[in-house]
Amino acid sequence: MALVTSLEQNQKVRHSVHRPTRCLYAIVDGSAGERYLQLDTVGSADREIPDKVSQSIQFDRQAAGQLLGLLLKAFPDLASSIDEISDTEEPSSDDSEEEGFEGRTQLILHRSKERNPRLIRRKKRRILTETGKLLCEVCGFDFTLVYGHLGSGFAECHHRVPIATLNGETPTRLSDLAIVCANCHRMLHRPPGHTIEQLRAIVRECRNKIS
Ligand SMILES: [Zn+2]
Ligand SMILES: [Zn+2]
Repeated sequence: MALVTSLEQNQKVRHSVHRPTRCLYAIVDGSAGERYLQLDTVGSADREIPDKVSQSIQFDRQAAGQLLGLLLKAFPDLASSIDEISDTEEPSSDDSEEEGFEGRTQLILHRSKERNPRLIRRKKRRILTETGKLLCEVCGFDFTLVYGHLGSGFAECHHRVPIATLNGETPTRLSDLAIVCANCHRMLHRPPGHTIEQLRAIVRECRNKIS
């Protein structure tokens, strides 16, 4: 029995493939509201005690996030079955297939990082404490100003680290996240992709033209 909270790369090269076994999974809720994914491999029928758990591994949220990244690294084509991102990613036609998969993998990682509810709560709390508002770091949009009580406390978080450099193993710091409005977030993700600073400059230039 083992609780895994982080994963490290095994430098030893292994070539052998193990024998198939049954594996049971369970989602375990901890007493503090935290969750674990539990995997139990059980002895195969030809073993002495069939169905006896031979290995039990639990993954906490952090390790599961890493695992998600590693799964997509190992099986990039799995990413194409996740259609959630299809409306935000517009693959350009000159992408080779492999780059497309790689891009999707990293986009999913990016999304999973900026959807970490605990991290987002902490980021918003930090900015609210410091500034009293949650303004879009690109265009200055204030959800509370426009939507009143309905928009209070609402904003999206964008992961600043360029998508192409993301791997599953780097933890996200609060400074990696930027507060953005929904429109700017979409534009940040629109290929070829812009940084907060670049998009801010674009918005400023366009506003100057209007006024
Ligand atoms: Zn904005
Ligand atoms: Zn984003």
